[in-house]
Amino acid sequence: MVERKDFATPVFPTWCPGCGNFGIWGALKNALVELDWKPEEVLIVYGIGCSGNGADFLKTYGFHGLHGRTLPVATGAKLSNHELKVVAVAGDGDGYGIGAGHFLHAMRRNLDITYVVMNNEIYGLTTGQASPTSEKKHKTKSTPEGVIENPINPIALAIAAGATFVARGFSGDVKTLTDITVRGIRHKGFSLIDVMSPCVTYNKINTYDWFKQRVYVVDREGHDPKDLHAAFAKAMEWPNLDGKRDRVPTGVIFETDAYPTYEELDPSLRRFGAPVKRQLGVLQNPDELLKEFY
Ligand code: SF4
Repeated sequence: MVERKDFATPVFPTWCPGCGNFGIWGALKNALVELDWKPEEVLIVYGIGCSGNGADFLKTYGFHGLHGRTLPVATGAKLSNHELKVVAVAGDGDGYGIGAGHFLHAMRRNLDITYVVMNNEIYGLTTGQASPTSEKKHKTKSTPEGVIENPINPIALAIAAGATFVARGFSGDVKTLTDITVRGIRHKGFSLIDVMSPCVTYNKINTYDWFKQRVYVVDREGHDPKDLHAAFAKAMEWPNLDGKRDRVPTGVIFETDAYPTYEELDPSLRRFGAPVKRQLGVLQNPDELLKEFY
């Protein structure tokens, strides 16, 4: 049985004291322990931003990639070795801004990857510019008169794009977040876990108190995540275009096992198996290949 200490690294997190990322980090560690995954069985792919710094704080195989490119790297790893357990971690600017195209295409492919997005509604690492999830009218360094664009609604986008498990967590409720993370990782197919993660340094609007007054867990109100129409209704509660900010649904919003994964459908993978398990032809008979160059 693995224990939390098995995932410890010598580096203590450099996140600001009180940062919401601590709650996500704890929930991810709890989930790996509950799933009894050994550190060497897991790959976590990180992007750029405060979220990406998590690469140093959790002992598994890790890949600290380029800004917005967590999902292409995770996709490549999963297709090369689909027995590998692959989790991707990004921030809202990383995942829903520069990486938005990859986000949509990974979901419509339904790869068996879990995508955890640390959503603090601001660019934290670059000291407080508006991100794709910043609320309208939010005054930031890059929007001194307030944001004029509508925020992205990642939950609604994910359901529409074909993600087969869509959830929202809150880093101030680590127990529920751990449960969601375990369910998301166990799910066969693409799972999005969007986590409201207060940036205590640069976002003075969406604070822990702000969320505590609005967050509720949908399961406790009888929500059925298998009901697509009910899931869309929950997704549209927040953020919404009419500016209402009174309730933020968390928990598993949508879940279906009706669709096969990309790995199960890909003809090459079905015929020949995982590329990492195949013999490389060039090594079997290098002389034949070299003759072409004589
Ligand atoms: Fe967390 Fe914000 Fe500090 Fe980044 S800047 S570590 S998101 S509190």
